[in-house]
Amino acid sequence: MTLQVLVAGAGPVGLTMAAELARFGVTVRIIEKAAQRTDKSKALVLWPRTLELLDQSGPVDAFTSAGQPVKAAVIHSGNSVVARIDLTIIDSPFPYGLMLPQSDTERILEERLSGHGVAVEREIELLRFSDDDKDVTTVLRHSDGREETVRSDWLIGCDGAHSTIRHGLGLEFEGDTVQGDFVLADVHLAGMVTPQTELSIFWHREGVLVLFPIAPGRYRVVADLGVASAPQPGTPTLDEIQSILDQRGPGNIVASDPIWLAGFRINERKVHDYRLGKVFLVGDAAHIHSPAGGQGMNTGMQDAFNLGWKLALVCRGECPPHTLLDSYNIERTAVGAHVLSNAGRLTAIGTMRNPAAQALRNALGHFLFGLAPIRRAAAENLTEVSIGYSHSPLNGPAASGLGGPKPGERIPPLADGKRATDGSMPRFVLYSDTPDDLDRLFDIFGDLLEPVARPALAPGGIWLARPDGYVAAVARSGDPGPLVDYLAGLKPHAT
Ligand SMILES: Cc1cc2nc3c(=O)[nH]c(=O)nc-3n(C[C@H](O)[C@H](O)[C@H](O)COP(=O)(O)OP(=O)(O)OC[C@H]3O[C@@H](n4cnc5c(N)ncnc54)[C@H](O)[C@@H]3O)c2cc1C
Repeated sequence: MTLQVLVAGAGPVGLTMAAELARFGVTVRIIEKAAQRTDKSKALVLWPRTLELLDQSGPVDAFTSAGQPVKAAVIHSGNSVVARIDLTIIDSPFPYGLMLPQSDTERILEERLSGHGVAVEREIELLRFSDDDKDVTTVLRHSDGREETVRSDWLIGCDGAHSTIRHGLGLEFEGDTVQGDFVLADVHLAGMVTPQTELSIFWHREGVLVLFPIAPGRYRVVADLGVASAPQPGTPTLDEIQSILDQRGPGNIVASDPIWLAGFRINERKVHDYRLGKVFLVGDAAHIHSPAGGQGMNTGMQDAFNLGWKLALVCRGECPPHTLLDSYNIERTAVGAHVLSNAGRLTAIGTMRNPAAQALRNALGHFLFGLAPIRRAAAENLTEVSIGYSHSPLNGPAASGLGGPKPGERIPPLADGKRATDGSMPRFVLYSDTPDDLDRLFDIFGDLLEPVARPALAPGGIWLARPDGYVAAVARSGDPGPLVDYLAGLKPHAT
């Protein structure tokens, strides 16, 4: 049987990508050059939008039971609290950030993937590929030096920041390396007075200090050191981490038993196109940025969820490629650009050194975060529930004068949101209270729709939602014609 998709790279993004495709019945191989999964905590937080998408595609309990929830992000300056961003106010079944080391996230994703009958093929490196518009020919090198040539309908580059596939496509990784060194420590802290359910940011005149709880007594410490002098960032010692904690933290905290100490610099880069012909870039292969806001891995995993259902419908012959697959680039490059600029802004604000600018920042911070709408916007932005696709080519018509969400907007899942199907096929979802409309739509498009509709999202309307939970189109009750046209436009005969 022809291989439909080859995924290169088994980091969190490649694992998500392969698991999504496998659960939709696509034939997929996933190869990885490293012998083992990472043992580093790297990306520490799964945000609510990622948890919602993970929940749609399988049981999420393996993640939620392994991690610990963070319910607020608190910015301190000296002895005062500049801002308390309460994450529990967002409209989501997961109103918190789930702190989970990336090593655990990858382990659980790999278990999910193997539950779909696919194993990661390790110690296999992608060397080169060519795309002749019909299929992709890829050359792999096994650990014994043997080379294997693989043909697949599609190739997906989840091969990280130094992506071989991005280089092979000749795409420029546009952006810069930010001036300045940062240090990171995964360490045990005694004497913490802030609750374990809070992420603490300290704005200090010497720079920023951030403490992320990982597990009881265990924290990620991140701090900036100012302008870099050495060609490469150095690895900090435990004593250096301790003196930063003493200087910038709340006092009387003692660091011990380091698990991981590292220095790093921030790159802010992104490719213009996430797709070229039959090859896609997903995750760090397509965009990298400051870890401020913890959006990197989440953005990459959400790229994979976005592409997964679209490519599955195409691979299964349910929909023609153009509209669906072109929308991946349009939707996700817009999100990537937004995340890049937000993370850059957060970093610049936290690391400013000029005392006058710091004083202004602190005063403005107090004022702005004193306003409830600003706090809500910050919480929705951080937790990624505000992500939407308002300019997507997949957005259909919206009947005027109705309340409820518009095309491109996320529909918050229900807390007890049960899937009506086994999830083995991407299906659109109807939200309506009018049985006649539903009967008509189910009669014509039963194969594309979840067989059970959900209640209307506002009086008088019918909502059609995409498999990833964003509104596709809205019609007026009694007039489902626009939804019929929308769904007909997705079918193969439409092109
Ligand atoms: C020190 C550090 C701290 C970080 N902290 C955070 C954080 O707090 N929050 C956050 O959101 N993000 C953080 N990140 C970033 C986060 O780790 C990445 O965004 C995330 O790992 C991206 O996942 P990915 O799957 O796209 O790429 P990766 O995790 O890099 O995975 C790519 C995989 O592809 C494999 N590969 C590469 N080339 C080939 C090839 N030619 N053939 C086969 N396999 C190949 C690699 O071995 C690797 O396993 C941090 C990163 C680092 C390094």
